[in-house]
Amino acid sequence: MQTSLTAPEPAYTAAYITERVTEHFMNVLYFDLGRYLIAAGAMTILLLVFRGWAKARRIQKRTAGRKDYTREVLSSLRTVFVFAIMTLATLIGRETGVINLKLEGATMLTVAWQFALIVLVHDAYFYWIHRAMHTKQLFNATHLHHHKSRTPTPWTAYSFSSLEAAAEAAFVPLFLLVTSMLGLAYAGFAMLFFLWHMIIRNVMAHTGHEIFPAGWVDNPFTSWISTTTHHDLHHSSGHNFGFYFTFWDRWMGTEHPRYAEEFRKNAKPYRLPSFGPRAAERISVLMAALLAGAATLSTWWIAAEPGVM
Ligand SMILES: [Zn+2]
Ligand SMILES: [Zn+2]
Repeated sequence: MQTSLTAPEPAYTAAYITERVTEHFMNVLYFDLGRYLIAAGAMTILLLVFRGWAKARRIQKRTAGRKDYTREVLSSLRTVFVFAIMTLATLIGRETGVINLKLEGATMLTVAWQFALIVLVHDAYFYWIHRAMHTKQLFNATHLHHHKSRTPTPWTAYSFSSLEAAAEAAFVPLFLLVTSMLGLAYAGFAMLFFLWHMIIRNVMAHTGHEIFPAGWVDNPFTSWISTTTHHDLHHSSGHNFGFYFTFWDRWMGTEHPRYAEEFRKNAKPYRLPSFGPRAAERISVLMAALLAGAATLSTWWIAAEPGVM
């Protein structure tokens, strides 16, 4: 009799599939919810702690009401749920071998260039689906919900209709499918950094206060990175469809004609705010707790289910 020491191939029984799908679903739910709460929560805390600093940089006179916050948080919870369903496509892709993720052994250089690549591709993807969702035929069914937030808050980040959430979430499995077909096993850490970068930039874009320093739009080294004013103007008066960068709007002529002017009005130079040692101590403890939370979540996530993206 021949014995084998290697693990047998998984049999696709109903029990196996149910277990894998449930596990994957719960992991993504936990990770995406955690990502949203940590990023939007940290920004809210920062705006409260540095109230004076933030007030000087406020973009709109109008303020978001309780109804806005409730709608934004509730629909963001729905978005997390839709994300968890949509990423099942990645799970199926990995199980069937059409999606290839490299979970170990990637060098820092590989992670860096793969991170840059996915951010660039996602920026283009976002610009074009965003413009498509602004067409007469699609707007009401897809993107109207996001624009109910006329004065964005950090909690607007995931405030999408189910259809928009599905379109946003389709990016990762599609991207991984294409790179796998091109023979590129994507580094898990490049994907992880991309996911954190995405939520952080998303929250920054909706934060309602110009947190970028004065001079940003006038410096050729920074003006290609979009600011809070850039996306805030999209909510208050249209134009500016891009996400991380300003180039698509410049190439396509969709940049707000007064973007630079409005930015200069909102932004202030960075000066270290003055606060006493007690406040400094509290802020350090708070930031350390947030960092530890984010690190625990990521480590747990990688260990529990490395391929949930
Ligand atoms: Zn829009
Ligand atoms: Zn928005």
